[in-house]
Amino acid sequence: MRASVIQSVETGVNASPRYSLVLPIYNEEQVLPRLIERIMSLISRLDGETEAIFVDDGSHDGSVKYLRRVVTAEPRFRLIELSRNFGHQIAITAGMDAAAGDAVIVMDADLQDPPEVVLDLVAKWKEGFEIVYARRVKREGESWFKRLSADLFYRFLEKMTPVNIPRNVGDFRLVGRHALDVFRHMPEHDRFVRGMFGWMGFKQAAVPFERPPRTIGQTKYPFWKMMHLAVHAVVSFSEKPLHFALWGGSAISALALTFGAYAVFAWIFETGVIAGWTSTVVIVSFLCGINLFMTGVVGLYVGSIHAEVKRRPLYVINRLTGFDEPVRAIAD
Ligand code: UDP
Ligand code: MG
Repeated sequence: MRASVIQSVETGVNASPRYSLVLPIYNEEQVLPRLIERIMSLISRLDGETEAIFVDDGSHDGSVKYLRRVVTAEPRFRLIELSRNFGHQIAITAGMDAAAGDAVIVMDADLQDPPEVVLDLVAKWKEGFEIVYARRVKREGESWFKRLSADLFYRFLEKMTPVNIPRNVGDFRLVGRHALDVFRHMPEHDRFVRGMFGWMGFKQAAVPFERPPRTIGQTKYPFWKMMHLAVHAVVSFSEKPLHFALWGGSAISALALTFGAYAVFAWIFETGVIAGWTSTVVIVSFLCGINLFMTGVVGLYVGSIHAEVKRRPLYVINRLTGFDEPVRAIAD
């Protein structure tokens, strides 16, 4: 079981805050000044003690330098510097592990998750919902390709898994302390955080919001990273590809066997059969392709098991700023 990186902080400046904001940062130097401004204004509108936890996910621009300065000057800010780029899903996990609030809000740092929406999330939480997610009703400025691929992917995922993973929902959400404690007992390496919260159950609610385009800096989710996330989502939330590999493989083997039997039959009983080179090549290459595909599917799951059995920590912390506790390099 993974304990939190920082045991809940209960003394001094960090006296249990009501709200924790978790913001993953990967090369967001350009957006940071604007972000800090908006976060400060949000904090002033929230009705309880608030901490903001910035998680630097191995940025190699000036983000860390800037954040260290800001965090040192503002007692409600904290900074977790990961030792390298671990990826968005792990970065938000690190932030949630360290959060001390009764409600923890995860949001992107690029202002595509408008800080003001947090007030709506909080209002729903107060109505008694343990998990409140922000649903994108309009995705401005995103290419048709990103919208279409996201839509198809979520429809596909819905078919593949019994877990309820809401559509048009990213990682912008509020999580109550109870759900957060459950999350911290989920040590899986293959992390698709929105799916993990879906799996958990509890009373969940959605708050609609219009997602503005990214105005500063560039997306840190290029096509291949999106594909990677999609594959991890399927592998960690569905066993259907394995069933498909099994049944698809069996069906094709049966067909191949029938064809083989026919070939033998023809060889024995029909005269003048010229071996059909084309059909042989087509069949052999088709079967090889299917075989490779099936092996690949199984390989994905084996790879996932491999990552789990190594039992490595999910992330490594290089340095903490703004926390009471001394630095511990890894989550255990
Ligand atoms: N991010 C991160 N690590 C990564 C990639 C992204 O911490 O490896 C952060 C990034 O700084 C941002 C959030 O995750 O705060 C979402 O990334 P982005 O806005 O690039 O994704 P998009 O909105 O384009 O899907
Ligand atoms: Mg973004």
